[in-house]
Amino acid sequence: MLLNEIFYSIQGEGKNLGKPSIFVRLGGCNLACTWCDSKFTWHPKYQDNHLSDLGKIVDEVKKYPCKHLVITGGEPLLQQKQIAGLMNLLLGYTAEIETNGSVPCTINRYLTQINCSPKLSNSGNKSYNLKILPTNKKVFYKFVVCKKTDLQEIKVYIKKWKIPAERVYLMPEGITRKAIEEKSEWLIDICKQEGYHFTTRLHVLTYGGERKK
Ligand code: SF4
Repeated sequence: MLLNEIFYSIQGEGKNLGKPSIFVRLGGCNLACTWCDSKFTWHPKYQDNHLSDLGKIVDEVKKYPCKHLVITGGEPLLQQKQIAGLMNLLLGYTAEIETNGSVPCTINRYLTQINCSPKLSNSGNKSYNLKILPTNKKVFYKFVVCKKTDLQEIKVYIKKWKIPAERVYLMPEGITRKAIEEKSEWLIDICKQEGYHFTTRLHVLTYGGERKK
């Protein structure tokens, strides 16, 4: 498995915000978001991934007093066979996954939740079809918002893919406390108006975006 890092923390975003979780961060991504906060998983200049066998990952995971994983990346759905293998070795553990929504998920039965974050034009990627659809009740959608005008595109997207408002989370873009705070107030107002959830980025607010925290 192409691994980047494993660490124990709390889920910092979305529906399970605050939940103690073991983060298994996989290497590699099929997109290249300009504001990506984990370029060390895919960018040729910064990436520090390594190949790890599943047994070693299991040993590392079992060191922590927690039975819930957040499988993240990069784009973890590029390694679904390996994730299935890992979960088969971790009986009694639950897992949620973070994905950009561009790859169909074939490992639904191993997951309790799918956090899908479709990348819109503010990411600098070409548009792509959503492959993780809301007919799957485990899916919640998280949109990164850079500026107020992003909302128009988000609303069109939500309508196109028939995403119910109560499964939408809007999150401010930013890798500093200042950047998050600046956007939070108006983003909360938008959420109140539209019936979306607001999510902050707890790791940035608490640790300033420092890795492995
Ligand atoms: S999809 Fe995620 S990991 Fe990939 S470039 Fe975008 S933000 Fe980074």
